[in-house]
Amino acid sequence: MIDLPHIIDGRRVDGGEWFDSVNPATRQPWARVARGTSDDAALAVAAARHAFDDGPWPRMSPEDRASHLHRLADLIVANADELAHIESTDMGKPISQARQKDIPRSAHNFRFFADFQRFCEDESIPVSSNHHVYTRYEPVGVAAAISPWNFPLMLATWKVAPALAFGNTVVLKPAEQAPGTCTRLGELAIEAGLPNGVLNVVNGFGPGEAGEGLTTSPEVDLVTFTGESNTGRKIMAAAAQTLKRLSFEMGGKGANVVFADCDLDKAVDWSIQAIYTNAGQVCLAGSRLYVERAVFDEFVPRFVARAEAMRLGDPLDPMTEIGPLANEEHFQKVSSYLEIADREGAKMLTGGAADGWWIRPTVFVDVAPEMRIVREEVFGPVVVIQPFDTEDDAVRMANDSPYGLNAMLFTENVRRAHRVAGRLRAGTVWVNCFFVRDLRSPFGGYGDSGIGREGGKFSREFFTEAKAVVLEL
Ligand code: NDP
Repeated sequence: MIDLPHIIDGRRVDGGEWFDSVNPATRQPWARVARGTSDDAALAVAAARHAFDDGPWPRMSPEDRASHLHRLADLIVANADELAHIESTDMGKPISQARQKDIPRSAHNFRFFADFQRFCEDESIPVSSNHHVYTRYEPVGVAAAISPWNFPLMLATWKVAPALAFGNTVVLKPAEQAPGTCTRLGELAIEAGLPNGVLNVVNGFGPGEAGEGLTTSPEVDLVTFTGESNTGRKIMAAAAQTLKRLSFEMGGKGANVVFADCDLDKAVDWSIQAIYTNAGQVCLAGSRLYVERAVFDEFVPRFVARAEAMRLGDPLDPMTEIGPLANEEHFQKVSSYLEIADREGAKMLTGGAADGWWIRPTVFVDVAPEMRIVREEVFGPVVVIQPFDTEDDAVRMANDSPYGLNAMLFTENVRRAHRVAGRLRAGTVWVNCFFVRDLRSPFGGYGDSGIGREGGKFSREFFTEAKAVVLEL
């Protein structure tokens, strides 16, 4: 067992109370985590406030801030094996995915925003012969970053990196189910020489405790949150009293539309990755698969064969493709959807629960649009496949969801690709691919999937106050 304390004002701070973090592969506790109260949150906010109001961070030159953040990225790379091991132990992610994706991307988040903020330009607006306006983008203040358990370090750094790069100070509240790598991040920030209080980590629970302590604190200026849509609703209500600036990345039920004129090999390949990566615990998962009727009978058996060939196993084994679900509560939730689907009359072609907290890659057909398995976010390795006849049908079915985070479409017809991409109501549309991200692109969702966009200049908009300076010449 290791201890995961808070990291506040450049120091490890033990919790008054602790709770166990459970390794989902062994179902045994592997770490003791500080259970932050709202008082602990207040302590972290005070440290961040002091670092913002009186410290060097918001006043530092973009170059100096960038070198600090690059140093932190270097340390993430230097400690990549340890971080990947923690991620895998904490939430069951196959270690190959943690090594190849999560940890390098976390370092890249810091490098990208370190450089991006250095190269940002302000505007100059000539108003009249007698007046001139220019803009300044100033740090906002103290940011609360509240992150989920599915990509613990990658999604936390996706928030922390732009917040810090644009000169804010941060209190990070990782998900209570997988706080290991975020706690290490707080320690690495000290090692990288970030001034005390610039990055604080408070561990613990959301409702009524550390998380809510942040969203209700009058000293917190902005909240960047990734998690469930229902949690977003609560955070918005809590933050309303103090009128905080909010950015929400929430749930999804990604539509994946396969047209008959696609490259079927590629479509099968990407569709498998889109739903089964990270055991489907991905907001962007392609969990609703729509296949044009002309290729339905060819696509489905190929997809099922690929799903059945995936290797379930110990997440620490580099050959494992599907680890256990991240925690018991989540395993129960996903299992309950298998029963719900069965009761609703859906037909399971393959999949179901395995031993421990594993769920096999699962495929349902014979589903109807109103079924819960079609409408609700399962957040597990479970896909529903439905046939469609026309492009209009496909667009209508894909858009028939309260969510709108992302969609995929597969076609070799370039006119159709652009036409359908424009009609899909989703924050990101991938054509003939999945999960390709450039951090300059806007990221966020329509409808219940989000509020606001982050990425590149969209992050600058959120994490800075734009000011107009008007001069009489
Ligand atoms: P949750 O909404 O349960 O939790 C997210 C974070 O919010 C956790 O740190 C949690 O703390 C905290 N929290 C919970 N309640 C409150 C509260 N009242 N006040 C303040 N903080 C609170 O999400 P999950 O961790 O279960 O993550 C899965 C969800 O995240 C899925 O819906 C998924 O789609 C979504 N997601 C969205 C992404 C996107 O980019 N759109 C990306 C990845 C995931 P704790 O759990 O410790 O109590």
